[in-house]
Amino acid sequence: EWDRIKLRLRVELGEDAFTSWFTRVEFESRDGSCVFLSVPTRFLKNWLHSRYRDRLLVLFREAFGPIDQIEFAVRSAMRPVVAPRDVVTPLPTAPTRAAALQTPVVRVVAASTRHDDREEDVLAGSPLDPRYGFDGFVEGRSNSLAFAAARRVADARPGESVGFNPLYIHAAVGLGKTHLLQAVAHAAKAQGRRVLYLTAEHFMYRFVAALMAQSAIAFKEALRGIDLLLIDDMQFLQGRQVQQEFCHTLNSLIDGARQVVVAADRPPADLETLDERVRSRLAGGLLVEIAAPDVDLRRRIVGHRVEVARRASPSLEISAAVIDYVAENVVSSGRDLDGAVNRLVAHNQLTGQDISVEMAELALRDLLRTREPRKVKIEDIQRVVSKHFNVSKADLLSARRTRTVVRPRQIAMYLAKALTPRSLPEIGRRFGNRDHTTVLHAVRKIEEMAGADRGFADEIEMLKRLLDG
Ligand code: ADP
Ligand code: MG
Repeated sequence: EWDRIKLRLRVELGEDAFTSWFTRVEFESRDGSCVFLSVPTRFLKNWLHSRYRDRLLVLFREAFGPIDQIEFAVRSAMRPVVAPRDVVTPLPTAPTRAAALQTPVVRVVAASTRHDDREEDVLAGSPLDPRYGFDGFVEGRSNSLAFAAARRVADARPGESVGFNPLYIHAAVGLGKTHLLQAVAHAAKAQGRRVLYLTAEHFMYRFVAALMAQSAIAFKEALRGIDLLLIDDMQFLQGRQVQQEFCHTLNSLIDGARQVVVAADRPPADLETLDERVRSRLAGGLLVEIAAPDVDLRRRIVGHRVEVARRASPSLEISAAVIDYVAENVVSSGRDLDGAVNRLVAHNQLTGQDISVEMAELALRDLLRTREPRKVKIEDIQRVVSKHFNVSKADLLSARRTRTVVRPRQIAMYLAKALTPRSLPEIGRRFGNRDHTTVLHAVRKIEEMAGADRGFADEIEMLKRLLDG
């Protein structure tokens, strides 16, 4: 049913709006008259809630009968579903101007009491977390280059060129990109520089809102008047017009010697939905990757977290053995290390139990279990697909264009994209030296077919499950 609803939305909203807002929404469950959906970011949750809730209600009622509530949960990027669901407070159904321009819910209240809210809104950035300063960032081998570059940008005097522009930081989720970007923003703000920190989604949203309010020109001018632009989660920038505007902004800032910093979960070359010109401009500065933390860095991050927790409750005791245990066993990301420490503290406060290694083992079981996600290999995909469709692997990699081979080949390429971290060009190479556009075409084709045909979607789902357990 959800697939059918998505299809309707796609038709109603058009390709651009649909891909921007709905491709990352997942149907979780239905409980009586309430439907649960999940999205990857808070931003998307608020946006969908304020803009599309009514339409979704109507569509869900048509599909399921009496539905009177839709709840959006924000998916944790590491695990499919996050446990606590926070309900969004309902906004007025007819969007007021303030509601149309707000993003973080708190801002509406603040902005509507002010007279010059228009100007404020044009330049307001995404919210900054006061905890994300340079002091709280622990440096180690895997992030030292990113850290140094970020410091360099933060310490530059207004108008001073740091020798690289933009600074582009990429890393898997939870490795400190947002923390570093915000640290730069805090530091530069403190020196009185005109700083704008925006997630790519916010950028998209502000641009669209400005177009609707016919204040696009003011928006563009405001953007071009800042000293330092920081864009987070670049991989979410979508839509042709938005990208064009972003490209102009980028060019005008860089050409005017104003600093730009961008973070994303992959290098520019792998931002497949992004316009070629934006990609090459992004790749033209300094590219740094933050790698997964080694055990030494993990230990120091945990140590730092424990210290922070101890400031809040001085009686808290976490031994070095426990810190070692966490550092050695929670290996994925800074976010999980954070989560681990929080969990231990909560456990201790709720049960009164001392925090021992045994207790940690128990309390952190699920964090430990997910530490090594099963790695799917392209060979496995080719083997499974060729068996399932009864075509030889040689045919799969060949240039043959008969239907019986083309479709399984496309499915295999799609699965390679969905289940492995390989880039499109790399997948192309592994499939008989095909061009990355061929892979992209295959991915889109399969997505489209799965969206239109439930049986086909189930088949793909089955293959996925077969592969990643
Ligand atoms: P990303 O944006 O790359 O997904 P975040 O910046 O949100 O990651 O980091 C996730 C959490 O891990 C944050 O709470 C952050 O403070 C913490 N973290 C990540 N790396 C470090 C680090 N090197 N030192 C201290 N905290 C870190
Ligand atoms: Mg982030």
